[in-house]
Amino acid sequence: LFRSICARIYADVFYILTDYQEDSDIIQLVNDITKKISGLEYGPMLRPCFGISRGEECENSITLLCELAAFAHKYGKGKSLTTWTFYNAAIREDIIEEKQLESEMEFALRSGQFKVFLQPQYVIGTREVVGAEALVRWEHPEKGMVYPSKFIPLFEKNEFILKLDEYVWERVCMLLKRWERLGMKQIPIAVNMSRLHLRSPDLKEKLNYILEKYQIPKSGLELELTENLLFEDLDNAIRILAGLRDEGFTLNMDDFGSGYSSLNMLRNIPIDVLKIDRNFFDEKILTPRGKIIVKYVVSMAKELNMRIVAEGVETAAQESFLKEIGCDVAQGYYFSRPISIEEFEKKF
Ligand code: C2E
Ligand code: CA
Ligand code: CA
Repeated sequence: LFRSICARIYADVFYILTDYQEDSDIIQLVNDITKKISGLEYGPMLRPCFGISRGEECENSITLLCELAAFAHKYGKGKSLTTWTFYNAAIREDIIEEKQLESEMEFALRSGQFKVFLQPQYVIGTREVVGAEALVRWEHPEKGMVYPSKFIPLFEKNEFILKLDEYVWERVCMLLKRWERLGMKQIPIAVNMSRLHLRSPDLKEKLNYILEKYQIPKSGLELELTENLLFEDLDNAIRILAGLRDEGFTLNMDDFGSGYSSLNMLRNIPIDVLKIDRNFFDEKILTPRGKIIVKYVVSMAKELNMRIVAEGVETAAQESFLKEIGCDVAQGYYFSRPISIEEFEKKF
């Protein structure tokens, strides 16, 4: 394979620049190198990862090939099951799209392109609306409605999520104020909070500032965190969350049961609301065993004085099952999709 260059860049990151057409030749090379490394003294502990670019992509400019290999490596990391990633057209499109969104995000925020949608939460049985979750959408002038899955991961990478979340919190407080002025029923609204906020030393001050600005009680805004994000630095997370809760904030644990959920976490973190992930109610998983697990999660949460919200409820069968096991509140397409504020006000 002398028409390829393979080099270790840093740590366990390798690039391969090649003009070989056959993937299998390159994969063979990857396997050979991996095997060689595992024979070294610390080799068995290493898992070398390869970003691969081809000469045809850029007429053999080594600098450019290196950059593309770097993109491929970064792109594959966490996504790819293999230890190698070939740079390809799909990666190129993704990168171009990301760059475009990134160059537009600041203006989009200033010009009000980010819109808060609300998904109502219902008492199972009575169908009374007792809360809502704020979910952001980007109403892009050319692309139309862009959903969070397209931009939240990007904004977590470039930390713009900190600004966007604060924007959402503020819009929600404005809305709650508006409802108060109009004499409408007050319901708490849950907002999502990126894990990056847990690193910010003035999180509590920021939240208090926004709430005071619109004179909203702390119970008006529920803070939603996903369980996965708490893992990064659990002690720190516990300290910050306990501080928020002492101040009177309501903490929701989002997506419970979706990832590495740990009952341990419930012991350590002062959670008010447990949001059970929609995966739990997936018809395919709702086997007799699955049902028993959900049932005991619900009764455990109750005994721990947590409220429970079942997320992603899509069918009548799921609703009646939830009723049967004593789950009080549900949110999901079966009741309502997330809707615009205007629609929410009209409907409720
Ligand atoms: P999430 O917090 O778990 O929000 C629930 C997601 O499930 C929403 O997707 C909602 O539209 C969807 N959903 C609700 N009911 C059903 C159902 O019955 N079936 C199915 N299949 N899906 C249902 P959405 O709006 O696309 O948001 C995706 C994720 O993006 C959210 O997941 C949340 O993690 C994140 N996100 C949304 N808005 C914000 C925000 O303002 N800040 C931050 N940091 N993250 C946000
Ligand atoms: Ca959420
Ligand atoms: Ca969720």
